[in-house]
Amino acid sequence: MGNILKEELGKIESLLKGGASKIEPLLYEQSYEVEYLMSHGQDSPFFIALAFEKLLGTRCKACQHTYATPRPFCMNCGKACDWVELPAAGKIHSFTICHFGSEEFLKETPYMLVLVEFEGCNTLFLSRLRGVDQARAGLDLIGKRVGVKFNPALKDKLEFMRKRKIHYKRTKALSPEEKELIKRMEIRTSDIWFEPA
Ligand SMILES: [Zn+2]
Repeated sequence: MGNILKEELGKIESLLKGGASKIEPLLYEQSYEVEYLMSHGQDSPFFIALAFEKLLGTRCKACQHTYATPRPFCMNCGKACDWVELPAAGKIHSFTICHFGSEEFLKETPYMLVLVEFEGCNTLFLSRLRGVDQARAGLDLIGKRVGVKFNPALKDKLEFMRKRKIHYKRTKALSPEEKELIKRMEIRTSDIWFEPA
């Protein structure tokens, strides 16, 4: 028996005699991937409306609190909200320049994030800001009008998602090509951004 095994056996024997465990955890590298069903759930109208170049928010039936990021229930009074269409343009409330981001945005770094203020809305909308010279970006941007822009591929994406039959009890894994296609056709919040109006 080699030294490594002798040492390990010694530790096991010591453990069995009630000694303190000196056993190091066994470690090895692994990778795993899971397929799961992602649902936009109650937020689905927001994502579908993007394909028709509409930005939707919600408004409380009771207190009229209006949310630029849709919420089914009011955070102010707890009552149910209705869907409303937001204006296509708003004002820059604040902005920042990101030199790092999630995987999806890494190729765009540095990119700008903006909080947009819409007339009649009680909350702000977080998105990306394009079409601004980052080297000259300063406080004079605050209050500037910006308009929403939509990815022209959104209609195709929506059609793809609605046409695709999902087999809940599917036993065969998706092919790499299918996975790539689904990733490309998923409707995401990154399919919209703002530019100076
Ligand atoms: Zn309310």
